Amino acid sequence: MKIKNYNFTNKKVIVRVDFNVPLNDKFEVTDDTRIRAAIPTILKIIETGAVILMSHFGRPKGREEKFSLKHILPTLSELTGKKIFFADDCIGEEAVNKAKNLKNGEILILENLRFYKEEKNGDEIFAGKLASLGDVFVNDAFGAVHRAHASTSIIAKFFPEDKMFGFVIENELKNIDKLLNNSQKPFTAIMGGAKVSSKITIIENLMNKVDNMIIGGGMTYTFVKAEGGKIGNSLVENEKLDLIPEIIKKAEKAGVKLYIPTDSVNADNFSNDAKTEITKIDNVSEGMMGLDIGEETIKTFCEVIKNSSTILWNGPVGVFEMSNFENGTKKIAQAIAQATKNGAFSLIGGGDSVAAINKYKLADKVSYISTGGGALLEYIEGKKLPGIEAILKQ
Ligand code: AMP
Repeated sequence: MKIKNYNFTNKKVIVRVDFNVPLNDKFEVTDDTRIRAAIPTILKIIETGAVILMSHFGRPKGREEKFSLKHILPTLSELTGKKIFFADDCIGEEAVNKAKNLKNGEILILENLRFYKEEKNGDEIFAGKLASLGDVFVNDAFGAVHRAHASTSIIAKFFPEDKMFGFVIENELKNIDKLLNNSQKPFTAIMGGAKVSSKITIIENLMNKVDNMIIGGGMTYTFVKAEGGKIGNSLVENEKLDLIPEIIKKAEKAGVKLYIPTDSVNADNFSNDAKTEITKIDNVSEGMMGLDIGEETIKTFCEVIKNSSTILWNGPVGVFEMSNFENGTKKIAQAIAQATKNGAFSLIGGGDSVAAINKYKLADKVSYISTGGGALLEYIEGKKLPGIEAILKQ
């Protein structure tokens, strides 16, 4: 069932969106990317039907006003050009009445689903109460498809004939499938970020797909220590050291070229005005910590990226939040933009690399930016995701 072809006339459509957006201390939305992403789905449905939106928002412990979805109403209203109706509770009498009175062309948003622990617990009765508000279920929250929550997967069973993905999820799946199954060679993955533990499965899984695997960021130093290098006070996961030779062996066996940084920008503490040095990657001085890749590494990595036809980037290669340690990440982002301009397909995913692409104003210079962090990684890992399975299952 496709959103494009479905007839929503006179239907009340309950739509799971991901409106988990950042707010400032005046409770104003500071980055509306996720709300913006859901607009095509909302507008498509209200051409002929009515929309009931539901989302999680932050990590409330019970009902907490600072996590109320009412804070996003002005932004949603501005982006849709519509008055937005709001139900102070996602289930119960008010939600039922407001949903019942909703007319074609109108939008209602329910209060934060996570005010109920039943949401995360995947409670079937709670899911049934949400389901009773609508005639059709649309899931458009890609960032939450790896969760078996009431509103992301359990609810789907109440709509055996009338459930589908919204445009956000459809687009995500199309682009990730293009990356994984239709990729032009050479295919390069750039894996950065803080920890190897959160990326290990995806690194292993990608060995069967990519030609080049570039490693950067904090996890570099676990690789370097495992190979006998000196890493000073750099980030390290000692309990993962044993896995590194396995990864290296796996890459060799699969014919994947594994790129580990060769030089390192080190700091005497984790701050932007720390004293710095540049060393070989395996010779970080005692008391110093590696926070960025050096020029030699940048040159090698950018060369590989520019010669690639397919690129996946997940995670910064340094502490790009600090201006003195952002150089590597910035250069990688620029190289990806350059490769894209030359015809490569580039997919950026995972919160921090997306933040980096935005910081360097290159968002429109890459092929696709995923809205999912954990969900994207798990999908690439080849896991069956509950939010996707629930829609596909007959
Ligand atoms: P992740 O969520 O695992 O993708 O990690 C992203 C974070 O890793 C960013 O906030 C970076 O500042 C951080 N990071 C990148 N490189 C390093 C490094 N060499 N040492 C410590 N943290 C790093």
